[in-house]
Amino acid sequence: MENPNIIRVGDLDFPQRKVWMKTYGCQMNYHDSERILSHLSKLNFTATDVEADADLLIFNTCAIRDLANQKFYSHLGETKHIASKKDVVIAAGGCIAQTEGKDLVKKYKQLDFAFGTDVIDNIGEMVYRVYAGDRKFSVTTWDRSEDYSIETKITHGSPQAFVNIIKGCDKFCSYCIVPFTRGREKSRRLDEVVKDVQRLVEYSGVQEITLLGQNVNSYGKDNGESLAQLLGELEKIDGLELIRYTTSHPYDVSDELVAAHGSLKKLANHLHLPVQSGSNTVLQRMLREYTVEHYLGLVEKMRKANPNIVISSDIIAGFPNETEEEHQDTLKLLRAARYDFIYAYSFSARKGTKAARIDDVLTEDIRGRRLREIMDLQNEIQAEIRKTMEGQTYRMLVVEKGSFKGESKWTGRTSCNRLVHFTPKDESDMLWHWVDVKVTSATTFSCQGELLADFGKKAARV
Ligand code: SF4
Repeated sequence: MENPNIIRVGDLDFPQRKVWMKTYGCQMNYHDSERILSHLSKLNFTATDVEADADLLIFNTCAIRDLANQKFYSHLGETKHIASKKDVVIAAGGCIAQTEGKDLVKKYKQLDFAFGTDVIDNIGEMVYRVYAGDRKFSVTTWDRSEDYSIETKITHGSPQAFVNIIKGCDKFCSYCIVPFTRGREKSRRLDEVVKDVQRLVEYSGVQEITLLGQNVNSYGKDNGESLAQLLGELEKIDGLELIRYTTSHPYDVSDELVAAHGSLKKLANHLHLPVQSGSNTVLQRMLREYTVEHYLGLVEKMRKANPNIVISSDIIAGFPNETEEEHQDTLKLLRAARYDFIYAYSFSARKGTKAARIDDVLTEDIRGRRLREIMDLQNEIQAEIRKTMEGQTYRMLVVEKGSFKGESKWTGRTSCNRLVHFTPKDESDMLWHWVDVKVTSATTFSCQGELLADFGKKAARV
């Protein structure tokens, strides 16, 4: 009689096993990790948060910032202790593995295999290979097919899903490693994405999607389609409540897309529009292809199209040889753009990029000081903007429960991407409920509110 706890694949039996995954970096990586887990479920793996309990450890790496790199190398180094105690399979995937896969496998004895960003969907075959006795290999090939065609895989029961619509990037900003780790742009066909989302809504109860891509505004260029067209089609899907997308490049924001922000009801009241610097000369050295004036013009157009839109951004402090004047221009831009929040980082050189070859005179002290000035100013602006939320009511999806100063509260995410914490009326489970919450106090980092209405898990028009 067949053992129901064992899955037979090819010549091998796969008993129930556990996989532990550590994901670094952006939403794309988190989305890839979910995809990996979904593939591995076919080989009888279930996810665990406890590293010591796992039979398979996977690191999904990020090459964008030095800090994430260092954390990965150090954690991978520590796994040799686990490997010395039990028979565990260890793999590294993602952006670092794409460029350094072979070297990693050579250097770290406990690492069984490495895999790049374009072979995620072959993870099952790679794991099979290991259990068939083949260890110490690296797969970093690029997908050469003309079309980019996938089906979104989700492993969770939440109504939120990431949907990848374009991979790679053709921009080659001078500081960025992504075009080398993720390859050139390739979009999924519009009708395929629409059917994919329809399926997620109908069969998996998804109500909120985030369209993903390194430069999502380039979506469809290779097929004569566009992001604005796609958003218009997704708007028509019954049961889909909220649509987000990330990440945008200002150069590729079309008038059609600006208009979509004014007309589409399901499009979130939030846009993440990375500016990186407020200085035209730095933007030139970054090869960003737009000016500060063009950027601020876009912000104005977006706000005109949708007065409720909330805009956030990314800033790099201390790009090589940035002058004090250029840094001051970034502070000026912060005052003009008035972002709801920003992700700001000190420049860190990524090997292989143009910026890494610049003979740089800035010290880490200067970078640190400029980063602090950027954050201090942003925090002031943020406090002023958030204060205006007080007394306003927001419809939002409840995403988690937590404890605040000893008090148990639920947290919701608004359409404009702000988190608001509120006290429940009773002990009932409110996860994934749509609620109306009135903001009672809002500071730079935290918004507290009062629950006005609970609509349950379905059918709240945002
Ligand atoms: S557009 Fe974004 S992903 Fe592409 S090279 Fe520039 S920073 Fe990197």
